[in-house]
Amino acid sequence: DEADVPASDDIETPPLAGPNVMNVILVASECAPWSKTGGLGDVAGALPKALAQRGHRVMVVVPLYGNYAEPQDTGIRRRYKVGGEEILRRMVLFCKAAIEVPWYVPCGGVCYGDGNLVFIANDWHTALLPVYLKAYYRDNGLMQYTRSVLVIHNIAHQTADRIITVSHGYAWELKTSEGGWGLHNIITENDWKLKGIVNGIDTKDWNPKLDVHLTSDGYTNYSLDTLEIGKPQCKAALQKELGLPIRDDVPLIGFIGRLDAQKGVDLIAECVPWMMDQDVQLVMLGTGRPDLEQMLREMEKQHHERIRGWVGFSVKTAHRITAGADILLMPSRFEPCGLNQLYAKSYGTVPVVHAVGGLRDTVQPFDPFNESGLGWTFHRAEASELIHALGNCLLTYRKYKRSWVGIQRPGMMQDLSWGNAARNYEEVFVAAKYQW
Ligand code: ADP
Repeated sequence: DEADVPASDDIETPPLAGPNVMNVILVASECAPWSKTGGLGDVAGALPKALAQRGHRVMVVVPLYGNYAEPQDTGIRRRYKVGGEEILRRMVLFCKAAIEVPWYVPCGGVCYGDGNLVFIANDWHTALLPVYLKAYYRDNGLMQYTRSVLVIHNIAHQTADRIITVSHGYAWELKTSEGGWGLHNIITENDWKLKGIVNGIDTKDWNPKLDVHLTSDGYTNYSLDTLEIGKPQCKAALQKELGLPIRDDVPLIGFIGRLDAQKGVDLIAECVPWMMDQDVQLVMLGTGRPDLEQMLREMEKQHHERIRGWVGFSVKTAHRITAGADILLMPSRFEPCGLNQLYAKSYGTVPVVHAVGGLRDTVQPFDPFNESGLGWTFHRAEASELIHALGNCLLTYRKYKRSWVGIQRPGMMQDLSWGNAARNYEEVFVAAKYQW
C-alpha cells in the first residue's frame, strides 16, 4: 500500500561526516523560486537543500535575472572576458565566472577553495563548465582536485541538425563500441546526421614550393619538377642541422606529434632495436608526457649516430623534417583525421601508418603488383606489425627506386586543399537546410 511507504524525505538517514563530506557547487541557468522556466529550476532549488542536509557544504550559482527580494549582494565583482559576439555569450560568461566562485565568493564565511570540490552542471546551458574546468584549469595544473558532473535533465534540448567528423574512417569508428567512447549507440541511431569529411591542408603554409622554412640553412623549395634534386638537398640540410651523418643512401625516418599513448610513440620505441639493425636514421619531434619526452632523449643518447629525439614544439623543425625525411611514421592507436600524413604526401615523403580513422582514408596501401598506392599501412597497433610495414617500405626504398618515385609523385599531385573539404561541408549545410 503506497500510503504506508514513507516519502524518502521522512526517512532518517544519518548525515555524512568526515572525509565523505564534500564541497558542492550547483551551477544552473535557473533556480526556483527566483527563476524558473521548468523542472530544472525546481531541481536547482531543491537538490542543494537535500545535499546540505546530508552534511555537504553546498552553494548554488545562478544568473541574477532581476532584482529579487531576498538575496544579499556579496559585494564581489570580477571581470571575465568572452571574445566575439556569439548569441551564447551569456551562458559562456556565466560558466567562466562560476568556475572561480570557490576562489572568490565566501560561503558560510569562507571561500571553498578548489579541494574536495564538485561542480554540478545542468543541461546545455552550463555544459561548457566541465569543458572550461578541464581545458583552462585542470590541464594547466589548477583545480586538480575539483571534479565536474553534468546532469542531463532533458536530452531533447539538443541543437545540432547535422554532425560532421573529420574523416570517413573516424565516422565509422564512432559507431563501434571501441571507437565511440560510450556514445556509439547514440551516434549509430543518429547515423543519418553524421558525415565524415577529411580535413584539408593549408596549401600556402604546407607546400614544398612555397614553404618559408625551406629558404635558408641549406634547405630549398621544390616541386614535382624538382623533386629529385630538391628533396635530397633538404635531406642533407636536415642531417647537417641535426648533426647526423650526411648520407643520401640512408633512409631518413621522421615522426612529428604529441607524445602520448594515442600517437603510438611507444611502438616506435619498441621497434628501435630492429631499426638500428637496418641502417636507417630516425628523427622524432614532439612534446607531451614527461616519460615519453625522457624516452626520446634516451633514444638519442643511446644511438647518437642515428637518432635524434627533439623534445620541443617547433613549427620550423616540423616543416624541415617533413621536407627532409624519406618516410613519416604515424603508428597512432586512433587518429580522427591526422594532418602530418597529408603534409608528408604533399612533400613527397612516404607515410607508414596504422590503418585507423583518417589514416585509413588518406593512405592507400602500396600494392606491388599494380604499382599503386601512397604509403604503407598496418592493421594492429603492435610493434611487430609496424616492423612488417616499415620493412616492406625500406625494401622498396632500397631496391625499387622507380616504385618509390611512383609512390611519391601521386601523393604530391593530390589536391589536399581545404577547397574540396569546404565543398563537402556545403553539401551538409544544404542537406540540413532542406530537411524539416
Ligand atoms: P593532433 O591534432 O592529434 O595533435 P594532427 O596530426 O591532426 O594531430 O595535427 C598535429 C599538428 O601539430 C601538425 O600540424 C603537426 O605538425 C603539429 N605538431 C605536433 N607536434 C609538434 C611539435 N612538437 N612541433 C611542431 N609541430 C608539431
